[in-house]
Amino acid sequence: MVSLHDTTTPATAPTDVGTSTGASPSPGRSRPNFPSWRDVPAGIYATETQLKTMDLPRRPGPPAATVKGQDGLGRTATLTLYRIDQSTPTASTAAQLAAARRRADPAARVCVDCGARPDRALLVSETRGPLCPACRHIEYLRHRQDEARARRAAAVHHARALLEDGRTSPLAIVHVDYTERGHTPAGTRRTPAAAKATILDASGHLLADPLLRLVGPRAKGVPPGTCDPQTGAEQLKALLAERTVLIWQWSDLDDLGTGLRSQQAPWPLPRTLWPHPQGGHHVVELVGLVADWRGEIMPEGHQPLPVPPGRADRMLLLLQQIAGTALSANRK
Ligand SMILES: [Zn+2]
Repeated sequence: MVSLHDTTTPATAPTDVGTSTGASPSPGRSRPNFPSWRDVPAGIYATETQLKTMDLPRRPGPPAATVKGQDGLGRTATLTLYRIDQSTPTASTAAQLAAARRRADPAARVCVDCGARPDRALLVSETRGPLCPACRHIEYLRHRQDEARARRAAAVHHARALLEDGRTSPLAIVHVDYTERGHTPAGTRRTPAAAKATILDASGHLLADPLLRLVGPRAKGVPPGTCDPQTGAEQLKALLAERTVLIWQWSDLDDLGTGLRSQQAPWPLPRTLWPHPQGGHHVVELVGLVADWRGEIMPEGHQPLPVPPGRADRMLLLLQQIAGTALSANRK
């Protein structure tokens, strides 16, 4: 199952003005302390080593900022940053620099991908060679997309298994709509008055759509036609016990479970993805499958959460679309 909150970031040096939050430097006269390289504005600051290893090496001026990063031994450390515009050329003469260049590999200062020759020393990728920060980021994004492609294939197989008769127990697609009761004067959300559960089978046939009361019978805001919580819970339990239950995400059922328990009615689904005796899991969250199938990687490198379908028939449509995806149609 995909991690939906993956915020893995590229392990590159400061790269992109666009990723700067701008929130890091402390106000006032004190020097800014950046929490990470991602927060350091591009092209303004450099460490002493970065200045020294520039194409035309420079000497730092006064310390101007700090950043939490890694020292030469890979340990977390607070590194001092200097403003590039306050640095000065080192004492090396042009003849010395030319001699140093003849000893060095000239290719080490050229990005193998885009041909850029940045002032700053390039980071060398073991597989690719020297790469500029932008090309390293592109490579990182491509790597993330490759991982996403592998997860998409797994999601397609999982969706097919869920829809296929006999592979797992029959499917029940569950979506819940709540009758809200607004907020208290103090701003606390009131528990919903009722829950309408729509339950479809794998062909889209309606198995049941009970309207369950989640508060006391005389509470305000209870819509007409609600069923008694005990009866409704028993009906859900009978319907769902032998099926693989497909929900969007667990939190969609929180108010239903809490409301039923508050009315001394049993909550039919354990909040664990426990294995079903016939294989697979008794309860499956669709959100993870959809995230894996969409497989989108944002320009910053993380995977966005898919938008909830909001209805049982749309959940089924999504599942069918995932199961019907031709894997050969994927790039590469
Ligand atoms: Zn490049």
